Amino acid sequence: MARIVMKFGGTSMAGTERIRRVANIVRAQAARGDQVAVVVSAMAGETDRLVNFCREANPLYDPAEYDVVVASGEQVTSGLLALTLQALGCKARSWLGWQLPIRTSEAHAKARVESIESAALIAAMEAGEIAVIPGFQGLSADGRVTTLGRGGSDTSAVAVAAAIKADRCDIYTDVDGVYTTDPRIVAKAKKQKAVTYEEMLELASVGAKVLQTRSVGLAMKEGVRVQVLSSFIGEGAPPADDLPGTMIVSDEEMDELVEKGLMERQLVTGIAHDKNEAKIILTRVPDRPGAVANIFEPLAAASINVDMIIQNVGRDKGETDVTFTVPQADLARAQALLEDRRGEIGFNRIITDSKIAKISVVGVGMKSHAGVASTMFRALSDRGINIQAISTSEIKISVMIDEDETELAVRVLHTAYGLDAKD
Ligand code: ADP
Ligand code: ASP
Ligand code: MG
Repeated sequence: MARIVMKFGGTSMAGTERIRRVANIVRAQAARGDQVAVVVSAMAGETDRLVNFCREANPLYDPAEYDVVVASGEQVTSGLLALTLQALGCKARSWLGWQLPIRTSEAHAKARVESIESAALIAAMEAGEIAVIPGFQGLSADGRVTTLGRGGSDTSAVAVAAAIKADRCDIYTDVDGVYTTDPRIVAKAKKQKAVTYEEMLELASVGAKVLQTRSVGLAMKEGVRVQVLSSFIGEGAPPADDLPGTMIVSDEEMDELVEKGLMERQLVTGIAHDKNEAKIILTRVPDRPGAVANIFEPLAAASINVDMIIQNVGRDKGETDVTFTVPQADLARAQALLEDRRGEIGFNRIITDSKIAKISVVGVGMKSHAGVASTMFRALSDRGINIQAISTSEIKISVMIDEDETELAVRVLHTAYGLDAKD
């Protein structure tokens, strides 16, 4: 007997027919004698539809009311899955975020899970009932509905798995694992048997949306075993217990897989892209101590995350241009904040551009190997792709390019690092 959390994403839950397929997968897991908790997303497209309603109702919407609206998509699918499981003869009930409760911070639209009351849930599961939990939603200390940020059902699933000490958290989605890059962009992308927490965290944070970044951080911290696998499987498909998907593993487990010859040690694990950033250039900023602090302090105070930053040493007149990126959703706010402080910062013009993309190459092998960056720069330049900014971490190199060149850049880099699957 094992205790398993199964999470199903939006595409898997899109409509009653697909929910029936999901119910059959859940029933099969429970029939193996396991205790099962299921975490579900809203139907594909539903959360976008609800977000649009909020924007139409009030462009400067109150995030607390936004959460009331957008959390509803998951309420629908959790009830529908419980009903479908009951129709298949299983004992099942839904547990909404406020009923468990899943306690979160008060940061509406991007709340963090703080704790989950698990005693009643565990008791129900031990009594043979399948627990169905809507992902994405929680309850703040002041008694209001919260949501965990887009893609947050992954984090709900990992948080539930940690709270009930599950043996495994299976993230069922519309691809059968984590690939070397988005398989919808590169047909020759390769499925990985395993990826380390550290690499997955970095890949998710630079745009590989297969797992929400926070879910990976939480899994790493709590030691939750996570598998990414497909819910679109046929009759004879191997069960999840055979680990047909991609396992997120510790460095030690990865070393063992390599030793056993089950994984190759790779320089580059994956390539990700992100089209959701925007570029801001401030021209003719005074080149003196404190100038950059004056720019970034107000953005930090407004919780606007700045990512790539370039500042050249001023060539003449003690002035320099400062370029950086912010999430596209925060661009208007960032611009307004900077305009307000024009006198203090002392820049000449603000130039903005939302038509940029960030392409990132991730791999722990980079820690000990030179030449990964130069391969990237050469491969892009051979195809005439201009690099507008560069940033690096220990296991990642990112470049900013024109958005129109995103797909080409991802393909070119996939080939340059020898990641293409052989036909
Ligand atoms: P869900 O609705 O199940 O949460 P998402 O759409 O959030 O699914 O995430 C799955 C998608 O992530 C896939 O359809 C795929 O296009 C995309 N994706 C991006 N990068 C990768 C990658 N490296 N491996 C697998 N899928 C990826
Ligand atoms: N439904 C939410 C979203 O679309 C949460 C999720 O699916 O993970 O962002
Ligand atoms: Mg998702």
